[in-house]
Amino acid sequence: MTVSESETAAREGEPPVVELDNVEIVYDRHFLAVQGFSMEAHEGDIVALLGPNGAGKSTVLKMISGIGRTERGEVSRGHIRYDGEDTTNFGANEMVDRGVTHILEGRRVFEDLTVEENLRCGLYRGGDRFRFDEDDYEIAFEYFPQLEEIMNLKAGYASGGQQQMLVIARALIHRPRLLLLDEPSLGLAPMLVQDIFETLVEINEQEDITMLIADQNAKRTLDIADYGYVMENGQVELHDPADVLKEREEIKEFYLGTSREEGRYTDIRHYKIRKRWT
Ligand code: ATP
Repeated sequence: MTVSESETAAREGEPPVVELDNVEIVYDRHFLAVQGFSMEAHEGDIVALLGPNGAGKSTVLKMISGIGRTERGEVSRGHIRYDGEDTTNFGANEMVDRGVTHILEGRRVFEDLTVEENLRCGLYRGGDRFRFDEDDYEIAFEYFPQLEEIMNLKAGYASGGQQQMLVIARALIHRPRLLLLDEPSLGLAPMLVQDIFETLVEINEQEDITMLIADQNAKRTLDIADYGYVMENGQVELHDPADVLKEREEIKEFYLGTSREEGRYTDIRHYKIRKRWT
């Protein structure tokens, strides 16, 4: 969906697929990781979550998917709504059932299982709801044909790029409505990052899957996103449509390295002092 289409949808009053309203997240009841955080993603959007290490990006994704609760994370203020339903205190199993799939940072494959066995895990929903059909692989092979050639390879022996394809394919097999991706570009060569991000756009367009991507590669992420939020110290520092965000001086200076504007040294220096990721 283009930004203008997305804005039209928002104007026409369609509820967002996911919405966080003034959310505060604590770990272990004491450690404040995120505060006053609000954001939304509309149907078919790609939304970027940017920010330095420790800004709170993963924490936000984990609380949306419910995984954060297994790490003693808790939404202590505010609300998370998915598809209009208040899911603030839902666990991961309840969110998976509703079509939310989370690809964690670090290409978490089951190293001792084959690529095929890893893909099958994408279908597991617990209890007696496990089902499997060869056709389920089709969506994986459509976007990542390379996987078909390495189905019997132990996933631990696959390359970094293949493992990243595998975790995305495994998530796709689950037929998500909302896909949360944490650092999909981490540790991959630039060419591979380009391939993976181009494939994410194809998936977004063809499968109509809403995506929330947390990544430190701001350029690539903003290139494919409709909207972006920049986090720092657990809060939203900036947010705008991705093409507007890319033109903002702070973003050019600190993320894209393309700033040409002169005469604002004091502003930028001040900003630089606050940013610890420079
Ligand atoms: P990174 O890219 O390094 O993962 P991030 O922006 O995703 O950074 P988070 O991982 O969400 O940031 O971390 C936000 C804050 O919460 C950090 O200060 C981190 O130390 C803390 N934190 C994250 N996970 C936990 C946890 N399980 N228990 C306690 N504190 C945590």
